[in-house]
Amino acid sequence: MVSRVIPVDLFDLVIFGGTGDLAQRKILPALFRRFCGGQMPNGARIIAAARADLSQAAYKAMISKAIHTYGGNFANDSVALDAFLDCLTYSRVDATGDIGWPELTTLMEQGQGARVTIFYFSVGPNLFGPLAERLHKHGLAQESSRIVVEKPFGRDLESARALNATLATHFCEGQIYRIDHYLGKETVQNLMAIRFGNMLFEPLWNSQYVDHIQITVAETVGIAGREAYYDRSGAMRDMMQNHLMQLLCLIAMEPPAKFDPDAVRDEKLKVIRALDTVEPHHIVRGQYQAQQGADDRHDAYRETVGNLRSTTESYIALRAHISNWRWAGTPFYLRTGKKLVARSSVINVFFKDAPHSIFGEDAGRHANLLSIRLQPNEGITLKVTIKEPGPGGMRLMDVPLDMTFSEALGAAGGNPPDAYERLIMDVIRGNQTLFMRGDEVEAAWAWTDPIIAGWQSRGDVPKPYDSGSTGPDDADLLMRRDLREWQGINP
Ligand code: NAP
Repeated sequence: MVSRVIPVDLFDLVIFGGTGDLAQRKILPALFRRFCGGQMPNGARIIAAARADLSQAAYKAMISKAIHTYGGNFANDSVALDAFLDCLTYSRVDATGDIGWPELTTLMEQGQGARVTIFYFSVGPNLFGPLAERLHKHGLAQESSRIVVEKPFGRDLESARALNATLATHFCEGQIYRIDHYLGKETVQNLMAIRFGNMLFEPLWNSQYVDHIQITVAETVGIAGREAYYDRSGAMRDMMQNHLMQLLCLIAMEPPAKFDPDAVRDEKLKVIRALDTVEPHHIVRGQYQAQQGADDRHDAYRETVGNLRSTTESYIALRAHISNWRWAGTPFYLRTGKKLVARSSVINVFFKDAPHSIFGEDAGRHANLLSIRLQPNEGITLKVTIKEPGPGGMRLMDVPLDMTFSEALGAAGGNPPDAYERLIMDVIRGNQTLFMRGDEVEAAWAWTDPIIAGWQSRGDVPKPYDSGSTGPDDADLLMRRDLREWQGINP
């Protein structure tokens, strides 16, 4: 199966932070792949801005190297790479001063014909406000321009509100694209297709039939390279408030009337607003420590951040409840952590046991489990109960109905576009469905803040867990107290 390429309108994309890690590792390689895919129209311009004093040649050499490192197989096409680099211009601009703004304004005025104008804020969050103000001051914040704002969007409700207010001074909500790159992942969008494209699941998608839901985002990487930021944030702010919250919304929301930005985001917002406050005994925080005989892969959090007293969590598990008609009484267990045994993002929907076994208790009881694997090995598995083969009477067993997208869909399923490819093209198309609205972000912080304030006031210290393990023992205890267990994080 070959995926369809739908061309986008002519655009000027200004990337503030064009020399940064995100621009080099994700944004520019993503644009290059779209260029190779034939989606970038002739005459489209990418203007990379930062303070460094770089010649055009030096900047292009930097990006050529980045694309060779992060661009995948496409990078071998040197003709395409040269043509792509021709679309790039470097502009020296200071977000907090006046350097470079007149030149950038002139450059923007040179764009021929009607263009979508996008300003991508790939800079530290302290620069989001100053950038919006400078764009306005220099007449670049036009009614038709769009801004893309990276995460983190605030570090609590107050700062998120303040940032929303600053951006709203110069841009209306329809111009603001708050990125959560998780929403751009092919399999995350597939959650909506699986739920709302099949009649099979939706009638069972409620507390009457679902026992509980587990959402796991496990990472093997640590925090190297992001130590200062991470130690001020922790897993709750860095992952739970945004990525896991978005997955929870997509798995729990009501069907929107249509696949349209506000219809989808209205339903997600209702889920967040229906979340109960999480009880302290339903929260487990962990911090990774070195294993015995540790090598570089299995280091310790505190040494890495250079703060032997750090109480920041690199792992969090919690039990959430959604107080609405569909989900009252169904627990949602969410967990995420660094330096775990395997990289795995998966949603497991555990259905209830059949109300009565006609085969008698000796046959065994098996509940259905639907696993939606977001990464790696994207696909879905449904565990179905069948008769154990053989003449030994009626005994039951589980078998998986397994669909791995790479096998079922061929090349298109096995090599999905990177989230940034999809999201940047959506910004150019003007489609905000996969971007967070301001009220959604604020509602997520309103749920998160009391949780953080609670453990801060209690002086809770995260539980240690071995680097390379499945997380702290207390997370298993959280489940055992409810007579449940985590589905394994598969290595
Ligand atoms: P980074 O590597 O530190 O890059 C920062 C960029 O901002 C550089 O290009 C820097 O260039 C530029 N910059 C700094 N001060 C500036 C100023 N006053 N005026 C103009 N440009 C300025 O950061 P990053 O990792 O790319 O992250 C960028 C944003 O994306 C952050 O908000 C981060 O939280 C978010 N993010 C990053 C990742 C990731 O994987 N890296 C993932 C998710 C979200 P000069 O110093 O030359 O000016």
